[in-house]
Amino acid sequence: VQEFAYPPDNPYLQRKEVRKRFTQDLAQYESLDYEIKDSDVALAEFVTLGPKGHRLHVAIKWVFCFLIGVSMAVVAFSVNLAAVNIAAAKFHAIQTYLNDDRKGAAFVGYAGINVACALVAVLVVTLVAPSAAGSGIPDVKAYLNGINVLGVLWPRTLLAKAVGSIGAVAAGLPVGKEGPFVHIGSCIASILGHGGFGDWRVRWVPIQTFRSDREQRDLVTTGAAAGVAAAFRAPVGGVLFALEEVTSWWRAQLTWRTFFTNAVVLVTVNAFVSICGTHCGLGGGKFILFGITEPSSGFLTSDLLPVCILGVIGGLLGSLFTYLNVRVTLWRQEVLYVWAKDNLKTCKILEVVAFAILSSAVTFYLPYVGGCTHCPPDATDCPQNDVIGNFITHGCDAGKHEYSPLGSLLFTPQDNAIKNLFSTDTIGEFSIMELLIFFCSYFPLAVLVYGISVPSGLFIPGILCGASYGRIMGMLVMRYTGSTNPNVDLDESTYALIGAASFLGGSMRMTVSLCVILVELTDQLSLIPLLMLALIISKSVGDLLGIPGIYDAHIKLKHVPYLHSQAERKYRSTKISDVAAAPVVSFDSFESVSNIVNTLHGTTHNGFPVFQDAQMRRNGSFNGTEPASISSIGEKRLLGVVLRSDLLVVLQSRINFQSAPVYDDMVRRRSYRYKDRHFYKRGATVQSPSVDDIRLSSQDMNKWVDLTPFVNRSCYVVHEDSNLEKVYAEFRKLGLRHLCVVPKPKEVLGVITRKDIMRGPELEKVDELDEEVMSWQG
Ligand code: ATP
Repeated sequence: VQEFAYPPDNPYLQRKEVRKRFTQDLAQYESLDYEIKDSDVALAEFVTLGPKGHRLHVAIKWVFCFLIGVSMAVVAFSVNLAAVNIAAAKFHAIQTYLNDDRKGAAFVGYAGINVACALVAVLVVTLVAPSAAGSGIPDVKAYLNGINVLGVLWPRTLLAKAVGSIGAVAAGLPVGKEGPFVHIGSCIASILGHGGFGDWRVRWVPIQTFRSDREQRDLVTTGAAAGVAAAFRAPVGGVLFALEEVTSWWRAQLTWRTFFTNAVVLVTVNAFVSICGTHCGLGGGKFILFGITEPSSGFLTSDLLPVCILGVIGGLLGSLFTYLNVRVTLWRQEVLYVWAKDNLKTCKILEVVAFAILSSAVTFYLPYVGGCTHCPPDATDCPQNDVIGNFITHGCDAGKHEYSPLGSLLFTPQDNAIKNLFSTDTIGEFSIMELLIFFCSYFPLAVLVYGISVPSGLFIPGILCGASYGRIMGMLVMRYTGSTNPNVDLDESTYALIGAASFLGGSMRMTVSLCVILVELTDQLSLIPLLMLALIISKSVGDLLGIPGIYDAHIKLKHVPYLHSQAERKYRSTKISDVAAAPVVSFDSFESVSNIVNTLHGTTHNGFPVFQDAQMRRNGSFNGTEPASISSIGEKRLLGVVLRSDLLVVLQSRINFQSAPVYDDMVRRRSYRYKDRHFYKRGATVQSPSVDDIRLSSQDMNKWVDLTPFVNRSCYVVHEDSNLEKVYAEFRKLGLRHLCVVPKPKEVLGVITRKDIMRGPELEKVDELDEEVMSWQG
């Protein structure tokens, strides 16, 4: 975080400063190359691949899906197993002190273990991989939108996310591991696509093609979907989550592949769970603990009103959650971290420790304030001398058959608290006041925690907040409509589920995927209409308030140049020539090495238009009658765009350096030794190579390079009068990085309609081209 002080009092200067900071922050992000590359080198490789190579490529994609599914299941199972068991061991460890009524010692032990677990989480994040903080969903969203957010998909981020999630959940912080699973799935997919990492990389050539940004995008999408499938045992919800929330582009093939991957996740997880049985501490052989025990069989029209009210409350509280969290995050970034800039890591670690102590104090002592309740007369298992279940004795006298309702929600693992709120077995066990106290204590903690340096998912806090006020609503409805009415099917546990949906809808603004995830999670098919209603209303209320969803808000906080699905209204009336950068830094198709190096040194741009002599262009690059010298330059025409990263590879290898700017058949042939994979980055979300890393002698500097084979020939162009809205849509849909603005053309060479595309190319021409390319490659 850079130091940034608002200039005092002058709003104009303030705005200027904010804009300057915004531009600086934007500049630190590079785009990814999701565009189909249409250079001669890429085309030659495509042609040589042939149909057999293409089939192999597709087969490998499916193998990757399988591997992503299995790996995600293994990691998710291990994280769950560790987090659940450490949390349970923590509660059991302090039980002796509680039984002896030694509250002080019990609290010290409880807070001590919580702080130790939180320390593991924060240390692994701050020292190993800072990108592992938070849920990771905003970062994965940004990556799939085309932004290279440094470090997000690194192997060590995966490690820190997994270990940190275990620590944060075991520490009892109000965070979930479900959001981090999306990030973990994305990391796994990206690492597999790179064939591993470091020295353990598979170097088999067909696998190397998966290192391109475009292929990585598909794999990361699959990994994100697998993360949701593993977190909630929701394979369809996972596919829809990736489609609705995470990705910016989608294709039919991705639907099948993510669906297959999620099926693999589910089968693998179920296999692990059944092998584990009841011995692993996962609770009756279930992977995720929550579930409504009795399926609801329907609802009445009169139930719609409370559901609508829940939707509105969810929209308001979800937006309030986002608003407050953004304020806290801004304060953290602009005041706390600026103040502690010399000891930033220490500050972050102390912040987490302080938070762990605070949340321990709240969850330990608040149940005492809430008091005890007599066990229901027909309850045989009350009170429970355990931390899992619904009649937890925390602070109450087991001899008098009392349990602590607030203890059953706060002094227990969060999965168990959700189960208690969702379960039909717990009807009447929590009073409205206790649920209110729970909400009022948990909500601020959840607001504060998202943003500290630990992996933190938002699903669990969202579900707990929503379920508590949903249950309150359910109790009020029961009280005023009469719980004895045999026609009333919904009970307070069902309202808890609808409340959870409304809060998640209000804070995350998801609809379809959340609905399916919640149904898959709870087996409540009959509740789909009510869940849909609550989600649509809460999302609409949130949108009407003008507060973005929590993930979008965090993307905005980082000043990531994220392209949302819709352009702003003012874009319609903005001409593209008003926003395009000029003058343009460009190259000729024959360019001197010294000029390329100097240009790369002198600018930060990553793409450069390349111009070619019109005569040379007419002759084409494949039919051999290239002009003898560049001195025959007449009118220059745009050949395409060359990327900085490609230029660096060409300069580094020196393969096609030549002594004069003339067409040379031998040099051109040498260019085809390059394969497309030579231009890919060494890992995902890594820093691009720098021109400073390239060592060239003074002789090299006097050489020339023929850039023609490396230029993306079908780069997208737009004419100067186009409006920004259309360009925005094109950028997002096609995953563009650069778009050249050209003057209005003097002539139109042809018109393409969908029928022309359907008719396709003339086959003889394609065959000719194939032969030509083969001969170039020798
Ligand atoms: P990205 O950051 O998306 O990878 P880039 O690095 O090429 O793209 P930047 O250098 O970050 O672009 O862009 C900063 C500004 O420079 C933008 O306004 C952009 O339009 C402009 N710009 C980019 N390439 C060129 C170029 N070849 N000539 C002139 N201006 C350019």
